[in-house]
Amino acid sequence: MPDMFRHPPIIPADLLVARWTLKQVQGDGFPREVVPPYNAPMPALPTTDALAASAIDLLAKLIAFDTTSRDSNLALIEYVEGLLGDLGVTATRVPNADGRKANLYATLGPRTEGGIVLSGHTDVVPVDGQKWSSDPFALTEREGRLYGRGTCDMKGFLALALAAAPLFAEPGRLKRPVHLAFSYDEEVGCLGAPSMIAEIAKHLPRPAAVIVGEPTSMEVVHGHKGITSYIVTVTGHEAHSSLTHLGLSANMIAIRLMHGLSELAASLERAADPASPFMPRHATLTIGQINGGTAVNILARECTFVFDLRCPPGMDPMAILAPFLAGAKTIDTEMKARFPDTGIDIVRRSLTPAFAPEPDGEAERVARSLAGDNGPPRVVPYAAEAGQFQQAGFSTVICGPGSIEQAHQPDEYVDRVQMERGAAFMLRLAEMLAG
Ligand SMILES: [Zn+2]
Repeated sequence: MPDMFRHPPIIPADLLVARWTLKQVQGDGFPREVVPPYNAPMPALPTTDALAASAIDLLAKLIAFDTTSRDSNLALIEYVEGLLGDLGVTATRVPNADGRKANLYATLGPRTEGGIVLSGHTDVVPVDGQKWSSDPFALTEREGRLYGRGTCDMKGFLALALAAAPLFAEPGRLKRPVHLAFSYDEEVGCLGAPSMIAEIAKHLPRPAAVIVGEPTSMEVVHGHKGITSYIVTVTGHEAHSSLTHLGLSANMIAIRLMHGLSELAASLERAADPASPFMPRHATLTIGQINGGTAVNILARECTFVFDLRCPPGMDPMAILAPFLAGAKTIDTEMKARFPDTGIDIVRRSLTPAFAPEPDGEAERVARSLAGDNGPPRVVPYAAEAGQFQQAGFSTVICGPGSIEQAHQPDEYVDRVQMERGAAFMLRLAEMLAG
């Protein structure tokens, strides 16, 4: 808001009202910030039902954009920019390296410290091979459930934030801002958010808390495990399978490595902290994909596998993997001594930090009061962007509509009731930031 409009005595109120009326009649694009004049009463907040209804309309629009992580999310980003632009809000894109995807962040309300970040990812998991009862990209309601890819994970939360955006952006309503922070590539290892989080930390007035709207049935969650994932490629030396002395099977080497990982997984399980709030309590390690060889009678030239290690807060994944990585290096040296064209290539795919409960966390206090949540402390086994925000120094919490049990499934849905609870949350947020 320009400073001149912050100080009522400078311009007589009746003059401003007259001018406002005139401009309104002319419809000449007079900045929205001076409409209505500061002396007019603030319009009442909508009802929860009305806000939920507009969020569900928006959800239908967001679902219609197929933002599967492998594809571009730019059409959705452009749509959101348009919505915000209509409110006089300029959003900032943070594109990925090839420009096919982007994060988007924006500030609604005054640019002051102490605001609240509403964060969510725009990408969704694939529907490939899943059996859906209706078009996953067309919102369909059956018995109070809103079906569609991303309804619960997590376009429902984005729709709620966008439905409330006109309130947040209303001139003079908020004393502290709401920042929207929408990311890409969350579902493939939380790859998109870090560049946006860095910009938020650098360019925005310091927010008081970050609310990541992953599906938690609108209950407040204050911890998650981290994920470290690797792609391992073993290159062998082809030969007839009867002539093992003339070649090196990539599969046989890969099995040695995988055996090491399997032993490591078992030792992590044995070392479970009995006080850990997670289920399962321990760090988990599993090999998600294996691809190797071309025929039974050929010593395999290549074998690739992917594994992920998920650690509760406080465990260092790199320390856990250090002996495995050192062992792989030794085997690589032995292989190269026999056949120089062979070896083991290990590439880290992701390193998503765990999210630790904050003692007396501001975000948890805020989110519990907005959600009306007096329940026990909660953690979740899946990883999200909360750990990344926390690592950047922001007090963070997870709270959003829908249940993780419906995420990534065929016939993913969010309950209409969850959207109503989310709408009530947004209205309380508008009230809280107005005070
Ligand atoms: Zn998600």
